Amino acid sequence: KIQAARSYATEKKIAQFNGQKKANGKYTVTFIEGDGIGPEVSKSVKQIFAAADAPIDWEPVDVTPIASDGPTAIPDEAIQSVRRNLVALKGPLATPVGEGHVSLNLTLRRTFNLFANVRPCRSLQGYKTPYDNVDTVLIRENTEGEYSGIEHIVVDGVVQCIKLITREASERVLRFAFQYAQSIRKPRVRVVHKATIMKMSDGLFLTTAQNVAKEFPDIEFDSELLDNACLKMVTDPTPYNDIVMVMPNLYGDILSDMCAGLIGGLGLTPSGNIGDECSIFEAVHGSAPDIAGKNLANPTALLLSSVMMLQHMGLNSHAERIHRAILQTIAEGKTLTGDLRGNAKTDEYTNAIIEKL
Ligand code: NAD
Repeated sequence: KIQAARSYATEKKIAQFNGQKKANGKYTVTFIEGDGIGPEVSKSVKQIFAAADAPIDWEPVDVTPIASDGPTAIPDEAIQSVRRNLVALKGPLATPVGEGHVSLNLTLRRTFNLFANVRPCRSLQGYKTPYDNVDTVLIRENTEGEYSGIEHIVVDGVVQCIKLITREASERVLRFAFQYAQSIRKPRVRVVHKATIMKMSDGLFLTTAQNVAKEFPDIEFDSELLDNACLKMVTDPTPYNDIVMVMPNLYGDILSDMCAGLIGGLGLTPSGNIGDECSIFEAVHGSAPDIAGKNLANPTALLLSSVMMLQHMGLNSHAERIHRAILQTIAEGKTLTGDLRGNAKTDEYTNAIIEKL
């Protein structure tokens, strides 16, 4: 028996969705299919949304190919589409390693000022992992830190990368974390940091958190060193279930993949990039070039991201219908993709979910 899943997103709206319902009763959402396994997992979402009668009209936009020379640009049409619709669902976008390639993912987050990256991570009933009751929420500062893209050569063989932390961006994401904790009824916010070593940068993030915490007397607040948090979480993640963790960009990127590992891998973890105006929902995983085009990808992460998206838009009954069908399919355990120790193809798994809607 599948429990009605607790909301991934907010009960009290904390990021306002002001999209317009159209005359046909539907909302338009920008859809960026992405690279690698992107088209396969996107197809699964579209089929399930259609079968569930979700009131969404997709507006597909292409943000590839990556410019081979000059700065990476997102086509204006894609930018206008997100600005118009305020909500987008996005497949993974590959970033080539090396000079000259700015990540399109980072560019999108910066373009729309998507300052908070929300990454819930929840055990899936029926899928056996060392811990079966993980329910963590990690919020990653999404616009600065080491990912600010400020890198330069000092002299040959010496490179500097600036970790940018500002009080303004820290305050914004920290306040969001407290509001998020209130809305999903978690009693505590915890800042994860390395202020022992990065005394000024992480120190600023931490002291900002201590000040923001005073605005939320109903939420408990504490802090933990990143390395300690990693050790404790892999030893026993359950004490983290009552906590919303919030941290600078790089730490959140890494720690959230570790959390994904606790519940069965990257095929299962959704995320939302939330800004004051627009929001973009995407899986935590990348383009998985090793399995692309083989009908092997697990679409669950993008599907759960689309559930988060529906909740963000206030379409809770549709979110719940789709969420329940995903959870039932996994709990049943008969039709699972290879990453979940099954042998179903992407489309077989998709059909199994559709049968349960
Ligand atoms: P990845 O997440 O693409 O893959 C890591 C491993 O997990 C691979 O073995 C892959 O097969 C597996 N995996 C990932 N998603 C899966 C799924 N849905 N179903 C089954 N297995 C899955 O990470 P990577 O290989 O380091 O990166 C590949 C590319 O993706 C890089 O160009 C990277 O920059 C990009 N990337 C993009 C995003 C994004 O769009 N937000 C995030 C991370 C990485």
